[in-house]
Parts: sequence; C-alpha cells; structure tokens
Amino acid sequence: MSPEVRRPEIVVDVAAIRRNVGILRDLVAPDGSDVMVVVKADGYGHGMVEAARAARQAGAPWLGVATIEEAVRLREAGDTGRLLCWLTVPGDDWAAAIGRDVDVTAYSVAHLDAIRTSLDEVDRSTPARVQLKIDTGLSRGGSTRDLWPDVLEAARAGEADGVWTITGVWSHFACSDEPDHPANAAQEREFRDALAGAERVGLRPEVRHLANSAAAIHRPSSRFDLVRCGIAAYGLDPAPGIGPELGLEPAMTVTAPLALVKDLHAGASVSYGHTWTAPAETRVGLVPLGYGDGVPRHAGNTAEVRVGGSRRAIRGRICMDQFLVDLGDPGEAAAEAGDDVVLFGPGTSGEPTAADWARACGTIHYEIVTRMGGRLARRHIGATR
Ligand SMILES: *Cc1c(COP(=O)(O)O)cnc(C)c1O
Repeated sequence: MSPEVRRPEIVVDVAAIRRNVGILRDLVAPDGSDVMVVVKADGYGHGMVEAARAARQAGAPWLGVATIEEAVRLREAGDTGRLLCWLTVPGDDWAAAIGRDVDVTAYSVAHLDAIRTSLDEVDRSTPARVQLKIDTGLSRGGSTRDLWPDVLEAARAGEADGVWTITGVWSHFACSDEPDHPANAAQEREFRDALAGAERVGLRPEVRHLANSAAAIHRPSSRFDLVRCGIAAYGLDPAPGIGPELGLEPAMTVTAPLALVKDLHAGASVSYGHTWTAPAETRVGLVPLGYGDGVPRHAGNTAEVRVGGSRRAIRGRICMDQFLVDLGDPGEAAAEAGDDVVLFGPGTSGEPTAADWARACGTIHYEIVTRMGGRLARRHIGATR
C-alpha cells in the first residue's frame, strides 16, 4: 500500500472548532456565562482528544463528557482543565474520575453513597468535586423533583463532613431546538426552583448550568454560569434556519476517491434490491464507503454528494462498503476513477452539508457526524501545536 494513495477519510478542521468555540464564548459572555465544550462520543465523531485540545486553545474553561471512561481518556491524553462527566452505571469506577480531578455528577442519594464509598480508594487531599443533576422535565437522567430534597440533604451532609464540594447544579432541556416550545420556560422555572432549594440547605455551587447549544443561542435567560455546547462547537446549527447567523463553520468533511466509473445501459438497475433503474445510458461512480463506515442506509436514492464541481445523486441502496452515484450522460460526464467525492462538508464549495444529509435521511446532523467512522481514517488539519 503506497502511503500516497488517497483513501476515504474524515477531515476535521480543528481551526474551525477553535473559531466556533470563540464565537460561542463571545455570544454568552455578556450574560456572565462561559462555555463547556461537550466532547463525548469521540467529539461527535470529530476525535475527542483533538476536539478537546481545540476547545482549550479557544479558552474553554470546561469540557464535558458522558462517561467516566471518556473522562479518564482525556486525562490520559494530558488534559488538565475542569472536566465534567455525567453518565454512570452501577459498579462504575467513580474513584477513577475523582482521583483524576474530574467533576462527577450525582443523580440520586444512591449515587452520593457510591461516591462516598469510592473515596476510600482515592488518594486526594482536597474534597471530591460533585455536581448534582435535577430532572426538570426531560425525564432522562437527574433527580426527580420529589427526590430532590433528599439529594440536597445528602449532598449537604457530605459537604459538612468534608468529603466533597458540590461544585455545580445542572439540568438539561428537552425541546431547546424549538425555542417557542412551552417546555423551555417550564424547565427553566423548575431549574430556578431547584437552585433555590439548594441555596436553602446552604449549598453554594460554583457553576449552575442548563443550556445546550440551541438554548445557549436562542434562550439567553438560560445561560446561567455555563452553557454546554456540543453541536455548535463543531459548527452545526442546532436549530437550522431559525437562528441568527453566527458564522459557525462545520468542521467535518468526509471524502473518498471514486473507486470505479462505468457506463450502464438504459434499463440497468442499480445496487441491492434494484431500487433504481437507469432511464437512459448513465455513467455511474462507485464510492468505497457504506453503512460499515457510518454512511446511513437511509441515504440510498435520497442524499447527494459532490463529484468534481457538481452535486450528484446517490442511486440505489447504500451497501455495507460501497454505494453508487449518478455521473450523468456518458457523453458529457468527465469523471474518472480516483476523482474526489465529497459526501458532506462545510458547504462552502458546493458540497452538501451534514444538515443536508440529515434532511435526506430523516434524522439530525448530530447522528450523521457522530456515526461516521468504521474504516474511515480521520485526519486533523488546522492544529496549532
Ligand atoms: C450532549 C449533551 C450536551 C450537548 O448538547 P448539544 O445540543 O450538542 O449542544 C449538553 N448537555 C448534556 C447533558 C448532553 O448530554
């Protein structure tokens, strides 16, 4: 295998991530807020460690991940800043996070008990840093309103014993990509009530946070001390078409060389199930990527790619390793094997965006970028050191 051979790859422009984080920090700064950049799920497919580095270079004071394993991996990659994780299963290694100076999240008294027990295994001179999550209406993680007083009482007792500091109280929106949805105001009210409850028992969390990207952009009243931005940091508009033009730049481009070009006779059918039939003589190009690499099978016969300077339709089903694009009339089509195919990118050179793919596939751009992987190589450009 010659190293010069171009292969299918995910190109991630970390300079775009840096600029996006800067834009978001500037957006919320007037409200006295700052940004936690969310780098879970391998940085939404962009590479967790590289995305984290870009976020720190842009001044992000906090990073957020879901699991303890993700937090540990960031520490092992050298990240030393404030870092929050929020999703555990029974038996998880809380000590691994706390011993590495990670802020952990408790949803319940059971979590606080498990954290207290884990501290026997942790060698630290300062109290553990624990944040409390209140469920304000997403009905996912977090304490219910009913159990919140018990959580607060246990949290306060641990502070009094010097075993931990409650560094944060936080929650998460259900409908922030629909800014007019009444759930947003209701959740914000619940959150303010939960904060007041924490205050009443004597907790003084350093950071209170509720907003994800969409709320950070569309709901200034929800910015509090921090906003947790994932999708917007990667340059994707969390609520496409309804927001202000912030100048966010999509950081991910997925490309491949055409593996093969061939001419089909009129009436030839394409790919598994023969779901598309050439109406006339047609040149097709074979793209060596499929659902094994995260290309959604739903993109068959719906999404487009850029080949050379033009948008080209995907024809037939997406296979595990490959799919076909329509290059047009063989008399006019100039494309040949080895030509560059861009599945999606920032959209600035005529290529589709992840949002276009999401629309075509009946999903959200979060899923499009996060699932890209498989055999795709990932290459980072725009790094400064
Ligand atoms: C993933 C996640 C975020 C980031 O959401 P975006 O919409 O990508 O900004 C924020 N908070 C929590 C709890 C999350 O799980």
